[in-house]
Amino acid sequence: MSESPTEFELIERWFADLGVADLARIALGVGDDCALLQPQAGEQLALSVDTLVAGVHFPHLADPALVARRALRVNLSDLAATGAQPVAFTLALTLPQVDVDWLSGFASGLAADAQQFGIRLIGGDTTRGEQLTLTLQVMGVVPAGAALLRAGARPGDCIAVSGELGAAAAAVALLERPASSLTAAEQALLTRYWLPEPRLALGQALRGIASAALDLSDGLAGDLSHILRHSGVGAELEEQALPRAAGATGPVPLAQALHGGDDYELCFTYAPGRAAEVAALGRQLGIAITDIGRITAQPGLFIHGRDAQRRALDARGYRHF
Ligand code: ADP
Ligand code: MG
Repeated sequence: MSESPTEFELIERWFADLGVADLARIALGVGDDCALLQPQAGEQLALSVDTLVAGVHFPHLADPALVARRALRVNLSDLAATGAQPVAFTLALTLPQVDVDWLSGFASGLAADAQQFGIRLIGGDTTRGEQLTLTLQVMGVVPAGAALLRAGARPGDCIAVSGELGAAAAAVALLERPASSLTAAEQALLTRYWLPEPRLALGQALRGIASAALDLSDGLAGDLSHILRHSGVGAELEEQALPRAAGATGPVPLAQALHGGDDYELCFTYAPGRAAEVAALGRQLGIAITDIGRITAQPGLFIHGRDAQRRALDARGYRHF
């Protein structure tokens, strides 16, 4: 077996040339004390950082390529929710040991998705530590003043979500199962967990249309409550309208659609007069966009059930896991 690479060799081999360089905006990448970014005139930088810890956020034995791809996609989803275009990211890696196979898999997964989503690795840090830990910080650009925020929803606005709800939550129960024991439907669910689709094109297209937006990481009820709090409004949802994902044996339970995390779909609000534009966007981008309720002046989050009863919805929901 070859000798373990030094920290410098490790960076050179796997991380020095990763992703797509936006030459107009990245003046300096990996290798110096700092990377240098050059936002264009009239742009704002959008930043978001997330840490994933082995054993907490993903199983220790998870495929490193999937770990990398998911970590990047989850961060990109924050840029999507802001309406920002990805430019660059940094990666702080804490490793218990230098495992060449793990690093190769990790870097190749990261490179594939960085390429696909048009982002460049411009720096990071590499340290030894007991627990495998990844911190990614993504940077994107948005025209000044045009970012989509959690504040801005107004009474009467429609509430919409992209894609389907609850698939990733349905997959969490499968994470520790041996792959050979999974049905095709279960494998498909797991893919939805590992490879969420950051809704970058949709987020950028919603600039100037959506009144508020965020991405769904902790479940619809809890995340929508952030929009309500930031905007000083309430909401009424229609149970029948919720686009429930197919689980392994039928549509996911209502509780999973409302409270299941990790879907990374966008939830946004818009004035009813913009409905035709929103529908057209969904068609153009080939993304299902579903109206699920209305913003109200009265605070609180309510849901109209199939039985036509109106119930208050607990934002925290129950913890399924
Ligand atoms: P310093 O000691 O000045 O912080 P380092 O030796 O930590 O520099 O890193 C050297 C260069 O390699 C820096 O440009 C840094 O951003 C980059 N780097 C270190 N680790 C990583 C990583 N995991 N991914 C990408 N770039 C990295
Ligand atoms: Mg350093």
